[in-house]
Amino acid sequence: MAEKKIQAIRGMNDLLPTESYLWQQVEKTVKTILNSYGYNEIRTPIVEATGLFQRAVGEVTDIVEKEMYTFNARNDKDKESLTLRPELTAGCVRAGIEHGLLYNQEQRLWYFGPAFRYEKPQKGRYRQFHQFGVEVFGIEGPDIDAELILLTARLWQALGIAEHTSLELNSIGSLEARADYKKALVAYLEEHKDALDEDCKRRMYSNPLRVLDSKNADVQTILNNAPKLFDYLDAESKTHFAGLCQLLDSAGIKYKINQRLVRGLDYYNRTVFEWVTSSLGAQGTVCGGGRYDGLVSQLGGQATPGVGFAIGAERLILLIQTVNNQLENDNNIDVYMISSGELVNGQNTTAIAQQLAERIRDIMPNKRIMTHYGSTNFKKQFSKADKYGAKLAVIIGGNEVLENKAMIKELQTGNQYAIEQDLVAQKCLEILEGE
Ligand code: ATP
Ligand code: MG
Repeated sequence: MAEKKIQAIRGMNDLLPTESYLWQQVEKTVKTILNSYGYNEIRTPIVEATGLFQRAVGEVTDIVEKEMYTFNARNDKDKESLTLRPELTAGCVRAGIEHGLLYNQEQRLWYFGPAFRYEKPQKGRYRQFHQFGVEVFGIEGPDIDAELILLTARLWQALGIAEHTSLELNSIGSLEARADYKKALVAYLEEHKDALDEDCKRRMYSNPLRVLDSKNADVQTILNNAPKLFDYLDAESKTHFAGLCQLLDSAGIKYKINQRLVRGLDYYNRTVFEWVTSSLGAQGTVCGGGRYDGLVSQLGGQATPGVGFAIGAERLILLIQTVNNQLENDNNIDVYMISSGELVNGQNTTAIAQQLAERIRDIMPNKRIMTHYGSTNFKKQFSKADKYGAKLAVIIGGNEVLENKAMIKELQTGNQYAIEQDLVAQKCLEILEGE
């Protein structure tokens, strides 16, 4: 009797060979661009102490309230509570403090890796997903905020999605300015309490700003007449924001100021931004970011300004696939090694093919060389070569071995040459490079 099949965890995706090629291309493009701005990679653990996220992300957020994968360390005597990271900024700041990277220094960092949130899985929303992100520490002016936006704009251009993304921008001011605003907002919401949904009623006191990005249309109508955060901004935040807008204007970056953009996480101040698309349905935010000057000290470090963003890799790739349905999956093989499997003069032709393949790789490390194993039928081997999209086949049969040669066949034209085995690698290189 067959055993019961074990399946993947809901909301956690396998990435199969049909798609991994696109992921690799996107990762390469993103990394090349990050590198071109002089940013360096940081990798931190997937698991961190639960307290890190409670403090960094904030208690009254969707993430900490209901989305974290939290468990107790099994062998720890004190049963420390651990959490699969729901985002990567907190770990990055923790590592920066722990290794003395932040205080009185400048760091321009990037990361890429999985994050975990217990959400209802749907298109563009998964329980394991991946983020590309940047965190810059030690620079307080709006010029770096503008650079992050330029960098992301360059990325959309390189990935062919620039026409399908737009930038929303806001400033949420200083902590103090926000405190004044919160009072005014709560007072207004209290007057309209009856029209609020349960979530908003609860948030109204614990995290009133989050009411602003409620998805509920009735709540949004009420908010039309609510006090405006912009009117409460402190003078420095206003100057910072004006500076950012000016830099974007002169760089020719279009944006929309969205006064209700507050972002889900607690740690932001001043600049917040999102790149959104209308091509993905409800999950339209591809990239979110902003400034978080208070985060480092909130996590026990010396006060250090910070600014960053995170891109949802799944949404980014969905968008690329949506706007460009003729993506080529270039998993093709360059050279397919075919052999008769015979033993000639004590030499097995497949072993010779295998060794020749090594020599081809020696001089063409970026090409894909695949050796056929198993069936010895030539016709089957050629149809495999076609299936893999091979450009060349290298054939070793009994006759070739007797003459110490191999046959190279150009599969598109049918041209073929018998070549000394010692010269096969060089000849393949000439043909492939001469294309
Ligand atoms: P949303 O409002 O869509 O829930 P968020 O504000 O929770 O997003 P952030 O914490 O800012 O998202 O994460 C940055 C980016 O990571 C998002 O803009 C999105 O592209 C992506 N992202 C967030 N949650 C998920 C998820 N569950 N699955 C896939 N991508 C996600
Ligand atoms: Mg969310």
